[in-house]
Amino acid sequence: MPDRSYMINEIFYSLQGEGGRAGTANLFLRFAGCNQTCRKETHGFDCDTEFASGRRMTLAEILAEFRQIGPGCNWVILTGGEPALQVDRELIDALHAAGYKLAIETNGSIELPPGIDWITVSPKVAEHAIRQRFAHEVKYVRGYGQGIPKTVVQAEHKLISPAFEGNILDPRTLEWCIRLVKENPNWRLSVQMHKNWNIR
Ligand code: SF4
Repeated sequence: MPDRSYMINEIFYSLQGEGGRAGTANLFLRFAGCNQTCRKETHGFDCDTEFASGRRMTLAEILAEFRQIGPGCNWVILTGGEPALQVDRELIDALHAAGYKLAIETNGSIELPPGIDWITVSPKVAEHAIRQRFAHEVKYVRGYGQGIPKTVVQAEHKLISPAFEGNILDPRTLEWCIRLVKENPNWRLSVQMHKNWNIR
């Protein structure tokens, strides 16, 4: 077992609340740190994720915690912050060797190492700055009045996610996103259901 370590914000066991894998049980590995600062004025929504704090954990410690909190679960979601700042081949290979499948939620600004089983790119940078241009799903968080960019990300599933304010979804924003999908029928609505389910 390699003894590499990573800055981890939190590890928890819950259900994926959005996108094509919504409703499935997953171990969440939230990495500390992000390379963006999403604000309503610039991005249409305020980042509501605490990713600044973290503790350094080795791969062996991460795996031990997975086995303790989610025995029987074989899917891990790599999230953040921005997980691509830390995710490397060693981590991917070690988690695969331990029997896990890997999903990732990335802002797309850093190209990912190969081998991840389910890639969600949720762009938070301009299209020309997107480096991860292949994904299983691409998801744009949209506030009221924001359009859909001509995406550079190649993905089978194209999702529009209405921006929440904390745990509240403004009906105007939802209505706006429904209208976007009706006008662009190759896109699909993806609401953050975990906020309604009252889970993380
Ligand atoms: S990219 Fe994601 S985690 Fe980073 S600031 Fe934006 S919303 Fe928050």
